[in-house]
Amino acid sequence: MIVDAHGRRFRNLRVSLTAACNYACTYCVPNGKRLQAAVAELGPDELLRAVRLLVETAGIDKLRITGGEPLLSPKFDHFLPRVMQLPLKDVSVTTNGQFLPQKADLIADAGLERINVSLDTLNPHRFRAIARSGDLDTVLEGIRLMLAAGLKVKVNMVPLKSANVDQILPMLDYCLERGIELRFIELMNMGHLKYGPGYQRDFFGMDDILALIGTRYEFERTDAAYDSTSVRYEIPGKGVFGIIANESAPFCASCTRLRLSSNGYLYGCLSSSKRHAITDLLKLDDEQARTILQTRLMGALGDKQSLQFTGEVTVMKFIGG
Ligand code: SAM
Ligand code: SF4
Repeated sequence: MIVDAHGRRFRNLRVSLTAACNYACTYCVPNGKRLQAAVAELGPDELLRAVRLLVETAGIDKLRITGGEPLLSPKFDHFLPRVMQLPLKDVSVTTNGQFLPQKADLIADAGLERINVSLDTLNPHRFRAIARSGDLDTVLEGIRLMLAAGLKVKVNMVPLKSANVDQILPMLDYCLERGIELRFIELMNMGHLKYGPGYQRDFFGMDDILALIGTRYEFERTDAAYDSTSVRYEIPGKGVFGIIANESAPFCASCTRLRLSSNGYLYGCLSSSKRHAITDLLKLDDEQARTILQTRLMGALGDKQSLQFTGEVTVMKFIGG
């Protein structure tokens, strides 16, 4: 097992099926252009083999399928049922939800038990202003179908001072009423935000979020897994919400995440643009590939920050968030 000086090892893999997305969220896509894939993206079988090799070599036991928008990619239909056959404790998907009504049966039939849907507002005009595409009702219908199919649903919301802070309480009510865990993701200083005014202008952090929620609800801190990125709170008798507070409560010291981009690069840290190609390994037999992969994984683990998330110019949709 590959372990670093902080006792960290890779357990959670996030695989980006494609960098293409049908949205162009203001905080994620720098140029507003939709549907841009990465150059030379891997096919579904190559990605499956890469995931299997990483499970065998790094001891990955949790997988999140992400993107870009994973449900946009034709690879998704092939990839999901097959990846569910690998010896993983947990498989989940992060999606913007726009294609959920179309993919609901496939997802339920594949046996997926958990899904995260990103949604920043319940206001249709605001929705279009942030996502620069898409339709709110379709996402809400997708969430309804996932709940009806018995999946555990979490909703990811990025609070933005200039765009949706007044949506925090309505979003929380919507989620509490449906048994959904709402997770606020503090705006990360990534991609174009790193050197523009957007991050300073829009950052709305954990203390502000908690103060706002405190105007309506009483809550108390509750359990989260050791390597969870989220600080979780319980509203007694109502439900749970979480905050992924990269800035206010960094979780780098216990981070177990590894990312595989759609064009075959490993990223050991979201806050580092260093990457490690693995496409050459996919041409080797399993034994040779696993031996070289060990070295690449050691390199990727060495990229992790020791304490604090500092952000990076890497564009989120290329490495899967
Ligand atoms: N397209 C899918 C979606 O939106 O759920 C999956 C990929 S997206 C990159 C994964 C997550 O990253 C989403 O929940 C999104 O809100 C979040 N995200 C993207 N850019 C971000 C940023 N600059 N700060 C915080 N979260 C961000
Ligand atoms: Fe697409 Fe997700 Fe990025 Fe929005 S956050 S542009 S939905 S990849």
